[in-house]
Amino acid sequence: MQQKPIPILMYHSIASMPKGTVMRSLHVPPRLFKLQMWLLKVFGFKGLSMGELQPYLEGKKTGKVVGITFDDGFKNNLVDALPILKKNGFSATCYIISQNIGGINHWDLDKGIDENPLMDEDEVKEWITEGMEIGSHTQNHVHLADIDTKNATKEILQSKLDLEKQFDCVINHFCYPYGSYNDEIVNITKDVGYHTATTVNRSRAGVGSDLLTLPRIPITHRTFPHLFLMKILSKYEDKHA
Ligand SMILES: [Zn+2]
Repeated sequence: MQQKPIPILMYHSIASMPKGTVMRSLHVPPRLFKLQMWLLKVFGFKGLSMGELQPYLEGKKTGKVVGITFDDGFKNNLVDALPILKKNGFSATCYIISQNIGGINHWDLDKGIDENPLMDEDEVKEWITEGMEIGSHTQNHVHLADIDTKNATKEILQSKLDLEKQFDCVINHFCYPYGSYNDEIVNITKDVGYHTATTVNRSRAGVGSDLLTLPRIPITHRTFPHLFLMKILSKYEDKHA
């Protein structure tokens, strides 16, 4: 079987927010998330964490698969997304900011975005115990391409070590905050030992995609079933590449 393109979905917060909420698109209501996961299942897709998706991206396995990623590690991922993921037999990767566990989305506040709590240590542990994966999203949610090499290296390497120590697991997957990277950042990410890294470049991934600059598909509060299926099944997102 020829491997079809592999969509990697990008979520942030799973919550219903009222009209007028700043950057409401970052919040997918639980009911819509539930519908999206149900659609994946009905169309024969399996939703996978980056660790489970990697062999498909490398061409070592073939199948109808979709990557599921959550940036920032919001508490609502555990409360509202986890039960739905489990019900469908899916796994997912949550990218955690290692020095902000149990904190809030402080980097969003100057844009007028509401405070939104992040998972604390016990909650991240529960996420892992329930069969989900964590990856790194740096130590402090920084713009990696805009800081000096020494600091960028620390953010990329030390976040991996922080999470490995705190949660007693190997961290193989990374996500560039704000999608900020350049060739040097990619090389550091590779040298430090990450297997994959995701960006905010829009396209479906596939066999042969560069594992350290993987494109994703943004899912928002307006990604209703018709659009969701177009994003996954058609070239709709690939045109943005
Ligand atoms: Zn982020």
